[in-house]
Amino acid sequence: MKGLADEPNHMIELLEGGTTLEDVIDGHVYEQALADKSVFVVSDLGSLMRQHVQWQRTMPQIRPFYPVKSNSSPAVIEILASLGLGFICANKAEVSLVLGHDVPPENIIFSGVCKQLSHIKHAAKNGVDLLVCDSETELCKIARSHPKAKLLVQVTTWAQAAETSMAFGCSLKSCRRLLEAAKDLGLQVVGATFHIPSSCKDLQAYSNALSDAHCVFDMGAELGFSMSILDIGGGFSGSEFQLKQVHTSVRLLLDASFPALSGVQVIAQPGSYYVSSAFTLAVNVIGKKVVARDWSCQAQEELTPDDEPEFLYYLNDGVYGSFSSKLLGSTIPAPAVLKRGSTAAEPVFSSSLWGPSCDGLDQVLEHCLLPELSPGDWLVFNNMGAAGLGGPSAIRPAVYHTVSTADWYTMQEAGIAVDNIMKNFSMVHYGA
Ligand SMILES: *Cc1c(COP(=O)(O)O)cnc(C)c1O
Repeated sequence: MKGLADEPNHMIELLEGGTTLEDVIDGHVYEQALADKSVFVVSDLGSLMRQHVQWQRTMPQIRPFYPVKSNSSPAVIEILASLGLGFICANKAEVSLVLGHDVPPENIIFSGVCKQLSHIKHAAKNGVDLLVCDSETELCKIARSHPKAKLLVQVTTWAQAAETSMAFGCSLKSCRRLLEAAKDLGLQVVGATFHIPSSCKDLQAYSNALSDAHCVFDMGAELGFSMSILDIGGGFSGSEFQLKQVHTSVRLLLDASFPALSGVQVIAQPGSYYVSSAFTLAVNVIGKKVVARDWSCQAQEELTPDDEPEFLYYLNDGVYGSFSSKLLGSTIPAPAVLKRGSTAAEPVFSSSLWGPSCDGLDQVLEHCLLPELSPGDWLVFNNMGAAGLGGPSAIRPAVYHTVSTADWYTMQEAGIAVDNIMKNFSMVHYGA
């Protein structure tokens, strides 16, 4: 199977009885401590299923399509495919990866507003017909190399424009021209898509985007297109609270403008929602400096006995590795310290965390409160599943996949086909 080569570890540890993720991390830290203390990642694959159950309970009428760029770990793709999700792919490699997991091509949307010609041809050859498009240049490329494509028009939202400071998508004004051009080229338009990033706290963004999408549907229908897919994008943090909030703000508008009876299929692109909480990253402290608190404002950096100390810790991974999302503006959650023998409450100090590159940009966390650490201590970062762990170019940390026996049985009882997972991964029992 394609894709697995990226991940040396084709093993899923089945956690027995009361074995917790912490036990697994402890176990690997012990192994690592004997070896070279390299960064590693532990997954809880059951979390993918629990997020899915929560999605279906809260948003049953909206079908999730998972954006592969959020986390392309083969185990994630395999499980989400068994759960019946569709997939959003941004390039040929992602399309090949997903097809390699036996996902039918009609469950794949080729997104991305600029596509390489050879990638469009690859989609055409493999029967991936749903393509996102936002400009006439793209239309011309698609008409030439994928005449049977079914297009989703990417409509711009101010929330996305504000976040990326880039004009993604087509403004409502240009949409008519785009639809007419598609018609002239003999292409088929089947719907609209938009994206509101989770950083956008103003739920009004959804009403605006839905009303824009409704205009696009009307224009499409006028031109004779059969508009049948509405995609409301990603931006779901993973919390049930936020999911319910979004659901409340879209439900009435969806019922009014895109009723199920009209035959419109509503889909979404939850990325972080599925994977964020499923991955935990463990990194090692490799260096330490102590300075006077607020040293940056003082001329002299010597610590006097009256000064409260502030600690700078250097980690064996930074923004050029597993914390690459920091460079894209994400906030890294504060870590936990792996238990170190003494359980007594320790005093905490103002601390900052740095990557190993000695580059001023390589700051993982500007400020957090931690007990005093020493080189060799381990820090554990939760909710790292959507952080693009390792990134495509960096050295990927070792990944240890786990699933609790309870979650594993629940998946089987829920009728989720686990055959493919069993075929492609070896399940090993962990704990007693
Ligand atoms: C990254 C991305 C997503 C996923 O966003 P989340 O906020 O992680 O859900 C969805 N759609 C598009 C187009 C994306 O680029």
